[in-house]
Amino acid sequence: MQFAQIHGNEALKANLTGMVDGGKMGHALLFVEEQGMGAIAFALALSQYINCKDRSGGDSCGVCNSCHKHGKLIHPDVHFVFPVAATSSLAESEKKHPISDYFLDGFRQLVLTNPYFDEQDLFDAIGLENKAGNISVHEAKDIISKLSLKPYESEFKVMIIYLAEKMNAEAANKLLKLLEEPPQGTFFFLVCHKPDKLLPTILSRCQIIRLQPDTPEDICDMLCREEQADADHAMVAARASRGSYGTALKLLREEEISVEYASDIRELLDAALEHNLTKLLAIADALTTPGREKQRDFCLYAENYIRKIFMFANGVPQISFALSGEYEHLERYAASIKKDFYRKALASLDTALSAIESNVNAKLTFVDLCNRFYLYI
Ligand SMILES: [Zn+2]
Repeated sequence: MQFAQIHGNEALKANLTGMVDGGKMGHALLFVEEQGMGAIAFALALSQYINCKDRSGGDSCGVCNSCHKHGKLIHPDVHFVFPVAATSSLAESEKKHPISDYFLDGFRQLVLTNPYFDEQDLFDAIGLENKAGNISVHEAKDIISKLSLKPYESEFKVMIIYLAEKMNAEAANKLLKLLEEPPQGTFFFLVCHKPDKLLPTILSRCQIIRLQPDTPEDICDMLCREEQADADHAMVAARASRGSYGTALKLLREEEISVEYASDIRELLDAALEHNLTKLLAIADALTTPGREKQRDFCLYAENYIRKIFMFANGVPQISFALSGEYEHLERYAASIKKDFYRKALASLDTALSAIESNVNAKLTFVDLCNRFYLYI
């Protein structure tokens, strides 16, 4: 990754390359960011920069052998460490001492598709199964053994540790000496969200690099340019993101998904109110098309939407947490739907959710759901 490919923090890019060019970079850097700001992208771009043989204009060349391998996250002298746990996908022998290397494929894919990921995205990508990930002493031993070898093909070796605050005390203590006096040509780039959770002895050995929040206007511009987002939606997401591009991107996607599901549930309710079975069957068909995860998300969204209508029907719209744009629709449904629909519809959605979880034929599930809406509404 080149610096030019990273959004925002322009002053920081200049500082980092200036430190390298002026020979003033420490051997242990701690990047402090808010979730989703892309510090890992800065660590990668910096690693690519120091190892590039043809850097110019404050950036790596992007095409030499080293840059090419950096771009694919397969450079043999660049190592990645992040919190992991003993998951069911590991072999029995690996479960005893899980280390990052066992999860590298998921990690690479995540960084390459969206370097502005957050902690939860990482845990989802490597399939942590709701277990608490940490960086253990076994990982620390692996780091020591990797860094004891000479670089394979570069002048420098780089150890990138994402979420360094997840290092337990035993692991941190094991790495202290190495952080203090790493072998010649070795760099540690640590990324953390909560520096107060790091041992002071680690903190004191690192040069601290703080990522600054981007302005809502800049984030909005980037979302419109990179994601072809609608300017109004992009600005709503940018304002709520606390200056983090990754958070804004996530909020924007959630907004887009909500818009999609809102139109699906309204179509379903309208067809049921019109008693239009043909239309309902077509809707059931369309709901079957996306994968299981989207089918599940739709049902959860529909449950929430029906609860909102219930609040409107019972004269308490203020506790429905509806968006102002939804009021008109919710008022209309609340005025036309039978009183006992809500309980029955929510039960039907629960049944559909269980069916999706148990891999029951999706078409049957949604035809049954739509038919029940038709009967109960
Ligand atoms: Zn290069």
